[in-house]
Amino acid sequence: MEDKITLTIGKQKNIALIAHDGKKPLLIQWCEDNKEILKNHFLCGTGTTARMISDKTGLPVRGYNSGPLGGDQQIGAKVVEGRIDLIVFFSDPLTAQPHDPDVKALMRIAQVYDIPIAVNKASADFMIKSEFMDTPYDHDVINFQKNIADRANTL
Ligand code: PGA
Repeated sequence: MEDKITLTIGKQKNIALIAHDGKKPLLIQWCEDNKEILKNHFLCGTGTTARMISDKTGLPVRGYNSGPLGGDQQIGAKVVEGRIDLIVFFSDPLTAQPHDPDVKALMRIAQVYDIPIAVNKASADFMIKSEFMDTPYDHDVINFQKNIADRANTL
């Protein structure tokens, strides 16, 4: 069994949108500015962010729980299930968050599964203008079956 397996992020992407309170206006404006691209994909987000983007831009955004109530963890679980392809997460580096462990966990799991995650506007701009936004993209992720088999055999 191989250590890695190749998964394909489809042409139409499942995009998670999250912003801490101080960054919500920036993310809403970014969504408005990129509406023509975003409308071709499936959008979801943490509860308050999703509601505000929907209300202010008209884009359909499926909302999970609010971040401090587990929304980041729900999105992390979807990453594990292969149901999120890309994350735009405008976190606030200058304000303490009660759910900081959840934020770290989401960042970590996105790294584990090689999911693109933009944490500020410049990265999100580069991401949304990427040629891969409009084509399928193959990437190598950890083969969890092999990982389990190896661990079960050696522990
Ligand atoms: P919210 O959660 O969209 O419900 O505000 C975002 C967060 O703080 O992680």
